[in-house]
Amino acid sequence: MCGIVGYVGEKRAQDFLVSGLKRLEYRGYDSAGIVTVSEKNEATLIRAKGKISDLERKLIDNRRDDKIGIGHTRWATHGEPSEANAHPHQAGSLYMVHNGIIENCKELKKTLKGHQFKSDTDSEVLVALIDSFYKDGEYLLVDAVVQALKLVQGTYGIAVVSTKNPDEIVVARSGSPLVIGVGQDETLIASDASALVGHTKRAIYLNDGEVAVIKKNSIEIKTLNAEPVSAKVEEIETNLSAIQKGGYDHFLLKEIMEQPDSLVETLRGRVDVDNGLVHLGGPGLSEKELRGIQHLIIVGCGTAYHAGMLAAYYIEQFTPEITIETVIASEYRYRQAYIPKNSVALIVSQSGETADTLACLREIKKQGVKTIGIVNVIGSTIAREVDGGTYVHAGPEISVASTKAFTSQVIAMVMFGMTIAQAKGVRNTILKPYVDEIAKLPDEIKNVLAGNREKVKEIAGKYKKYDHAIYLGRDTAYPTAMEGALKLKEVSYTDANAYAFGELKHGPLALVDDRFFETAFLPKGMLYEKAISNVQEVLARGGHVIAVTNNAKFDLKVDDTIKIDTQLEIFVPILMNLISQLFAYYVTVAKGYNVDQPRNLAKSVTVE
Ligand code: GLU
Repeated sequence: MCGIVGYVGEKRAQDFLVSGLKRLEYRGYDSAGIVTVSEKNEATLIRAKGKISDLERKLIDNRRDDKIGIGHTRWATHGEPSEANAHPHQAGSLYMVHNGIIENCKELKKTLKGHQFKSDTDSEVLVALIDSFYKDGEYLLVDAVVQALKLVQGTYGIAVVSTKNPDEIVVARSGSPLVIGVGQDETLIASDASALVGHTKRAIYLNDGEVAVIKKNSIEIKTLNAEPVSAKVEEIETNLSAIQKGGYDHFLLKEIMEQPDSLVETLRGRVDVDNGLVHLGGPGLSEKELRGIQHLIIVGCGTAYHAGMLAAYYIEQFTPEITIETVIASEYRYRQAYIPKNSVALIVSQSGETADTLACLREIKKQGVKTIGIVNVIGSTIAREVDGGTYVHAGPEISVASTKAFTSQVIAMVMFGMTIAQAKGVRNTILKPYVDEIAKLPDEIKNVLAGNREKVKEIAGKYKKYDHAIYLGRDTAYPTAMEGALKLKEVSYTDANAYAFGELKHGPLALVDDRFFETAFLPKGMLYEKAISNVQEVLARGGHVIAVTNNAKFDLKVDDTIKIDTQLEIFVPILMNLISQLFAYYVTVAKGYNVDQPRNLAKSVTVE
């Protein structure tokens, strides 16, 4: 998920490795490391938790003229951020950097008795596996890599060097990008072309299932099935500022557009479509404990709270005899709330450091209630203090306004709910439609983003002049409305509030006038007609309505309509939320505000 760089040539490798890693810093990371190998077959390994600047401090006493090396910025998925878990990892004469997740690392680890493990990472399992083939001298390094990768399930972009032959780097990819930069008497590698800019304009993009042997004057590529690949050399884009954000103008847009991929990471290894089941390893609850759950408390702040609300609507649809309460952490921590027996608490936080959520976790634990983390950042305080957890694996989220984490949090919690339902013996026919839709969701997200981006941008331009907005929805579209309003207010500073449609007549309807616009979420379903009547009440009072619906036949005369074209029925509100995210983004750009760092806000709210 994070960054890889590599160098073989005639210059000092450390220089490119460090400057290349700095170029990849924008992706977010928690630790970094480099290794170089000298002509005398000696390796110099430097790793540091924290920033590249921490790594550079260690480099002062470890300067080497070595001409080959690899480097990494890590976004932890297995094992907390620490020096020991930072890459490169070593086994025998090999050093390796890895992006991605080795799903079957536990099973593979059991077979690697000869290796003394020094980290908690899945990556060390892979390098030990490669070494188990390589060390007897029967295989060339590239063939040892191929043998090992044939046994691996998961995603990887890897680069491997051996102290035995300090003139080659072996790289391979499946699901994690790798670019090879073709230079003059030097070859460079990176997980992202931005690291290569200024060094070479010529690049080869490795495809999934390919492995390459890289030397200073040669690049040999083949597939894992040993078929040779003739590489196409392409021109690298030179606009550095653009590629720093993966080609997007802002992290917020990048993270919105990343959701098809980030959700795939959330689902990886957890969804069994054929049998209509989900499998979560992390919560660590026995079947008996899961069966016994009668009450769920979901704790969060801001977007995480909304994710919890939405997940609760879903979980109660298919889980019998269970009550669910979603609470705001800053309130709940001071309430004298009684937590019933047989409760489990879901503690939701992107950063895993949210102060109020952490305080709640500690309060809840005091009452002897089991806590399960729904956290993005591995090794964060909440992730460490909960009894069990389901990491959402959405990858680093840099923009202050949370987008991709929301989508992944909702689905991670729904999958946890399904785990309870499965244990309680809920019929497969009830759960299967949820599993089917979850599996389709990444592609549907991709289509909705691609199909609506331009239209939302156009509409946003029209609404930038408004200072007030009301977001409306009912049932699962109500938490969606809440999240939409939050997104708009936090980045565009528009006063936006959300109401359940049914609440309109109890007060908010009095607000409708020319200073306001109303965004109405109208998913097809049981309450569709009722919601339409509510929209009519707003229109009759001169409201300015943006309707977001998946009803292709929708023909109410509103100011603007966004029709979502999808096969999904259950998770339509998640698709509608993408429209809110894009809308908030484009209104903010139109107003000229700081998209990624809105005033007065911080990404990780570590104070009360
Ligand atoms: N799964 C690996 C780890 O936790 C690699 C993470 C990454 O892609 O940075 O170390």
